[in-house]
Amino acid sequence: MSTDQPSVLLVEDEPAQREVLRYNLEADGFRVTSAENGEEALLLVNEAAPDLIVLDWMLPNVSGIEVCRQLKTRSDTRGVPIIMLSARSEEVDRVRGLETGADDYVIKPYSVIELMARIRAQLRRSRPSVVGERLEYADIILDAETHRVTRDAKELKLGPTEFRLLSTFMEKPGRVWSREQLLDRVWGRDIYVDTRTVDVHIGRLRKALCKHGGDDLLRTVRGAGYALG
Ligand code: CA
Repeated sequence: MSTDQPSVLLVEDEPAQREVLRYNLEADGFRVTSAENGEEALLLVNEAAPDLIVLDWMLPNVSGIEVCRQLKTRSDTRGVPIIMLSARSEEVDRVRGLETGADDYVIKPYSVIELMARIRAQLRRSRPSVVGERLEYADIILDAETHRVTRDAKELKLGPTEFRLLSTFMEKPGRVWSREQLLDRVWGRDIYVDTRTVDVHIGRLRKALCKHGGDDLLRTVRGAGYALG
Protein backbone atom coordinates (compact mmCIF):
# COMPACT_ATOMS: atom_id res chain seq x y z
CA MET A 1 0.00 0.00 0.00
CA SER A 2 2.97 2.28 0.46
CA THR A 3 3.34 4.97 -2.14
CA ASP A 4 6.50 6.28 -0.50
CA GLN A 5 8.75 4.72 -3.10
CA PRO A 6 9.03 6.81 -6.26
CA SER A 7 7.52 5.09 -9.29
CA VAL A 8 9.24 5.01 -12.65
CA LEU A 9 7.79 3.93 -15.95
CA LEU A 10 10.47 2.50 -18.19
CA VAL A 11 9.71 2.51 -21.91
CA GLU A 12 12.32 0.58 -23.85
CA ASP A 13 11.85 -2.00 -26.59
CA GLU A 14 15.19 -3.76 -26.10
CA PRO A 15 14.65 -6.42 -23.40
CA ALA A 16 18.28 -6.52 -22.22
CA GLN A 17 18.45 -2.75 -21.70
CA ARG A 18 15.06 -2.76 -20.04
CA GLU A 19 16.13 -5.43 -17.56
CA VAL A 20 19.42 -3.74 -16.67
CA LEU A 21 17.62 -0.52 -15.94
CA ARG A 22 14.83 -2.22 -14.03
CA TYR A 23 17.38 -4.04 -11.89
CA ASN A 24 19.24 -0.84 -11.06
CA LEU A 25 16.13 1.20 -10.38
CA GLU A 26 14.65 -1.45 -8.10
CA ALA A 27 17.95 -1.81 -6.27
CA ASP A 28 17.81 1.94 -5.68
CA GLY A 29 14.32 1.75 -4.13
CA PHE A 30 12.14 2.64 -7.10
CA ARG A 31 8.90 0.93 -8.04
CA VAL A 32 9.26 0.08 -11.71
CA THR A 33 6.67 -0.60 -14.37
CA SER A 34 7.83 -1.15 -17.91
CA ALA A 35 6.48 -0.99 -21.42
CA GLU A 36 8.05 -2.20 -24.63
CA ASN A 37 6.28 0.18 -26.96
CA GLY A 38 4.56 3.55 -27.06
CA GLU A 39 0.96 2.29 -27.04
CA GLU A 40 1.58 0.20 -23.95
CA ALA A 41 3.28 3.17 -22.27
CA LEU A 42 0.26 5.41 -22.88
CA LEU A 43 -2.11 2.76 -21.53
CA LEU A 44 -0.02 2.34 -18.37
CA VAL A 45 0.09 6.10 -17.79
CA ASN A 46 -3.70 6.23 -18.09
CA GLU A 47 -3.98 3.57 -15.40
CA ALA A 48 -1.65 5.34 -12.99
CA ALA A 49 0.65 8.25 -13.70
CA PRO A 50 4.19 7.43 -12.54
CA ASP A 51 6.46 9.92 -10.78
CA LEU A 52 8.86 9.86 -13.76
CA ILE A 53 9.20 8.29 -17.21
CA VAL A 54 12.37 7.03 -18.86
CA LEU A 55 11.49 6.96 -22.53
CA ASP A 56 13.45 5.51 -25.40
CA TRP A 57 13.22 7.59 -28.55
CA MET A 58 13.29 4.72 -31.06
CA LEU A 59 10.28 2.54 -30.40
CA PRO A 60 8.16 0.50 -32.80
CA ASN A 61 4.96 2.18 -34.08
CA VAL A 62 4.35 5.13 -31.76
CA SER A 63 7.79 6.75 -31.25
CA GLY A 64 9.10 8.07 -27.97
CA ILE A 65 8.79 11.59 -29.37
CA GLU A 66 5.09 11.08 -30.02
CA VAL A 67 4.51 9.60 -26.55
CA CYS A 68 6.35 12.55 -25.02
CA ARG A 69 4.39 15.09 -27.03
CA GLN A 70 1.06 13.53 -26.10
CA LEU A 71 1.84 13.37 -22.39
CA LYS A 72 3.19 16.92 -22.29
CA THR A 73 0.01 18.35 -23.81
CA ARG A 74 -2.27 16.66 -21.26
CA SER A 75 -2.96 18.62 -18.09
CA ASP A 76 -2.96 15.47 -15.95
CA THR A 77 0.45 14.24 -17.14
CA ARG A 78 2.27 17.46 -18.08
CA GLY A 79 4.03 17.60 -14.71
CA VAL A 80 5.51 14.10 -14.95
CA PRO A 81 9.22 14.47 -15.81
CA ILE A 82 10.34 12.61 -18.93
CA ILE A 83 13.95 11.61 -19.58
CA MET A 84 14.45 10.65 -23.23
CA LEU A 85 17.02 8.05 -24.23
CA SER A 86 18.58 8.46 -27.62
CA ALA A 87 21.22 6.62 -29.58
CA ARG A 88 23.24 9.56 -30.89
CA SER A 89 23.84 13.16 -29.97
CA GLU A 90 22.56 14.33 -33.36
CA GLU A 91 19.29 12.63 -32.50
CA VAL A 92 19.16 14.50 -29.21
CA ASP A 93 19.64 17.76 -31.11
CA ARG A 94 16.76 16.80 -33.34
CA VAL A 95 14.53 15.81 -30.45
CA ARG A 96 15.32 19.13 -28.78
CA GLY A 97 14.49 20.92 -32.00
CA LEU A 98 11.16 19.15 -32.17
CA GLU A 99 10.13 20.67 -28.87
CA THR A 100 8.73 17.50 -27.44
CA GLY A 101 8.83 18.96 -23.94
CA ALA A 102 11.15 16.26 -22.58
CA ASP A 103 12.78 17.36 -19.33
CA ASP A 104 16.15 15.78 -19.97
CA TYR A 105 18.00 13.72 -22.61
CA VAL A 106 20.53 10.94 -22.14
CA ILE A 107 22.63 9.57 -24.97
CA LYS A 108 23.10 5.81 -25.46
CA PRO A 109 25.25 4.09 -24.48
CA TYR A 110 24.81 5.79 -21.13
CA SER A 111 26.27 5.11 -17.75
CA VAL A 112 23.60 3.76 -15.44
CA ILE A 113 25.05 5.83 -12.60
CA GLU A 114 24.65 9.00 -14.63
CA LEU A 115 21.10 8.12 -15.63
CA MET A 116 20.19 7.43 -11.99
CA ALA A 117 21.64 10.81 -11.01
CA ARG A 118 19.56 12.53 -13.68
CA ILE A 119 16.44 10.68 -12.49
CA ARG A 120 17.04 11.84 -8.93
CA ALA A 121 17.68 15.41 -10.07
CA GLN A 122 14.32 15.47 -11.86
CA LEU A 123 12.50 13.98 -8.88
CA ARG A 124 14.06 16.47 -6.46
CA ARG A 125 12.23 19.16 -8.39
CA SER A 126 8.94 17.39 -9.09
CA ARG A 127 8.49 15.03 -6.11
CA PRO A 128 10.93 16.17 -3.41
CA SER A 129 9.33 14.12 -0.65
CA VAL A 130 9.83 10.79 -2.42
CA VAL A 131 13.60 11.32 -2.73
CA GLY A 132 14.07 12.23 0.90
CA GLU A 133 14.17 16.02 0.65
CA ARG A 134 13.33 18.32 3.52
CA LEU A 135 10.18 20.36 2.92
CA GLU A 136 9.21 23.55 4.68
CA TYR A 137 5.99 25.46 4.82
CA ALA A 138 5.29 28.24 7.32
CA ASP A 139 6.52 26.84 10.66
CA ILE A 140 6.20 23.20 9.53
CA ILE A 141 9.28 21.17 8.57
CA LEU A 142 8.93 17.71 7.07
CA ASP A 143 12.04 15.59 6.71
CA ALA A 144 11.18 12.88 4.21
CA GLU A 145 14.36 10.96 4.96
CA THR A 146 13.86 10.56 8.69
CA HIS A 147 10.04 10.78 8.49
CA ARG A 148 10.04 13.49 11.15
CA VAL A 149 7.68 16.42 11.20
CA THR A 150 7.97 19.45 13.42
CA ARG A 151 5.84 22.52 13.79
CA ASP A 152 7.31 25.53 15.53
CA ALA A 153 10.22 23.21 16.45
CA LYS A 154 7.93 20.83 18.32
CA GLU A 155 7.77 17.27 17.08
CA LEU A 156 4.45 16.01 15.71
CA LYS A 157 3.39 12.39 15.69
CA LEU A 158 1.74 11.45 12.40
CA GLY A 159 0.42 8.13 11.16
CA PRO A 160 1.79 6.91 7.80
CA THR A 161 -1.26 8.09 5.85
CA GLU A 162 -1.23 11.53 7.49
CA PHE A 163 2.50 11.77 6.74
CA ARG A 164 1.93 11.06 3.05
CA LEU A 165 -0.97 13.51 2.94
CA LEU A 166 1.19 16.23 4.46
CA SER A 167 4.07 15.45 2.06
CA THR A 168 1.69 15.81 -0.86
CA PHE A 169 0.40 19.16 0.39
CA MET A 170 3.88 20.47 1.21
CA GLU A 171 5.22 19.66 -2.25
CA LYS A 172 2.76 22.13 -3.73
CA PRO A 173 1.52 24.60 -1.14
CA GLY A 174 -1.64 26.37 -2.25
CA ARG A 175 -2.61 23.72 -4.77
CA VAL A 176 -6.16 22.46 -4.33
CA TRP A 177 -6.33 18.65 -4.36
CA SER A 178 -9.61 16.86 -4.99
CA ARG A 179 -10.40 13.81 -2.86
CA GLU A 180 -9.86 11.60 -5.92
CA GLN A 181 -6.44 13.13 -6.60
CA LEU A 182 -5.46 12.59 -2.98
CA LEU A 183 -6.64 8.99 -3.17
CA ASP A 184 -4.48 8.41 -6.26
CA ARG A 185 -1.44 10.07 -4.75
CA VAL A 186 -1.62 8.90 -1.16
CA TRP A 187 -3.39 5.55 -1.28
CA GLY A 188 -2.59 4.49 -4.85
CA ARG A 189 -5.06 3.83 -7.61
CA ASP A 190 -5.19 0.08 -7.25
CA ILE A 191 -6.70 0.28 -3.80
CA TYR A 192 -10.39 0.84 -3.30
CA VAL A 193 -10.97 3.43 -0.62
CA ASP A 194 -14.09 5.51 -0.16
CA THR A 195 -13.54 9.23 -0.67
CA ARG A 196 -14.93 9.82 2.84
CA THR A 197 -11.82 8.07 4.14
CA VAL A 198 -9.88 11.06 2.84
CA ASP A 199 -11.97 13.36 5.05
CA VAL A 200 -11.26 11.18 8.07
CA HIS A 201 -7.49 11.34 7.54
CA ILE A 202 -7.59 15.06 6.78
CA GLY A 203 -9.34 15.48 10.13
CA ARG A 204 -6.57 13.56 11.87
CA LEU A 205 -3.85 15.52 10.09
CA ARG A 206 -5.54 18.80 11.01
CA LYS A 207 -5.70 17.76 14.65
CA ALA A 208 -2.06 16.66 14.67
CA LEU A 209 -0.87 19.90 13.06
CA CYS A 210 -2.68 22.02 15.67
CA LYS A 211 -1.70 19.88 18.63
CA HIS A 212 0.72 22.46 20.02
CA GLY A 213 -1.27 25.46 18.84
CA GLY A 214 -0.93 27.57 15.72
CA ASP A 215 -3.40 28.35 12.96
CA ASP A 216 -5.27 25.68 11.06
CA LEU A 217 -3.33 25.72 7.78
CA LEU A 218 -5.41 23.08 5.98
CA ARG A 219 -8.05 24.74 3.92
CA THR A 220 -11.28 23.01 2.90
CA VAL A 221 -12.28 24.26 -0.52
CA ARG A 222 -16.01 23.72 -0.89
CA GLY A 223 -16.87 21.45 -3.80
CA ALA A 224 -13.19 21.13 -4.76
CA GLY A 225 -11.12 19.49 -2.03
CA TYR A 226 -8.28 20.51 0.24
CA ALA A 227 -5.23 22.75 0.13
CA LEU A 228 -2.40 23.74 2.42
CA GLY A 229 -2.41 27.49 3.10
CA1 CA B 1 14.77 1.37 -29.06
